[in-house]
Amino acid sequence: MSHNGCNFSYGHYQEILRAILQNGYSCCLFGSEVEDSEPIVYLRHDVDIDLISAKRLSEIEFNNGIKATYFIFLASPFYNPFEREPAEAIKYIASLGHEIGVHYDNSITPSDTTKIAETIYKQADTLQKGLDINIKVVSFHRPSKIILESNLTFQNIENVYQEKYFKQIKYLSDSRQVWQEGCPCQIFKKKLYSRLQILFHPVWWTDEGFRAQICLEKFLTRSSLSLDRSLQGNVSVYKSTAARIHKLVIGETND
Ligand SMILES: [Zn+2]
Ligand SMILES: [Zn+2]
Repeated sequence: MSHNGCNFSYGHYQEILRAILQNGYSCCLFGSEVEDSEPIVYLRHDVDIDLISAKRLSEIEFNNGIKATYFIFLASPFYNPFEREPAEAIKYIASLGHEIGVHYDNSITPSDTTKIAETIYKQADTLQKGLDINIKVVSFHRPSKIILESNLTFQNIENVYQEKYFKQIKYLSDSRQVWQEGCPCQIFKKKLYSRLQILFHPVWWTDEGFRAQICLEKFLTRSSLSLDRSLQGNVSVYKSTAARIHKLVIGETND
């Protein structure tokens, strides 16, 4: 089902957005009012790993007059949303008119829906107060059966796995950098579905359109260098071991 010219580059992301607009679809935010007959798309980004790529996607959308929702992961091992650079990136994305939501890992609270709701409210509140951004939508990290099958609703927080966003409309995802039904640009050109939710994970998208393994290697190198800079800037005893760590982590020395 792959198509010539389709890849995971920012250039092709822009082509997907153009296919959305040229074929008469509008991009909606979760929870917004929509006309019954209107062809619509909910663009969703679960920022599990890479906020820098999320920023790039948000700019491409902004330049095309499109709004999407970015889900920030408080339990991410890869970024801290309250650290200066990530916090600035999230506020910047919001300043472009995009929605910010909370990406929630329900493996912390398996199966108890009351606990799930409580923890979501706490995390949304933390994000909201910490970044001074309104949070009114949640997506789930690796959603369990109960999330996928219970049509859970929460007060004042829209759940993207509610049936109206997930079962009653078409759901597509770039998980593992694979489009199970082919690239969305073709799906929009053929107008196969009138309503869709599409999940794009920022980490898979690059200028070059690298394949998944390379995307992750590039991310790891960038993150290692950034951690190295942080250690050098914050811990004086680190300087003496920097070269050794460099060698260990990225296979090169600094001197
Ligand atoms: Zn395509
Ligand atoms: Zn996730």
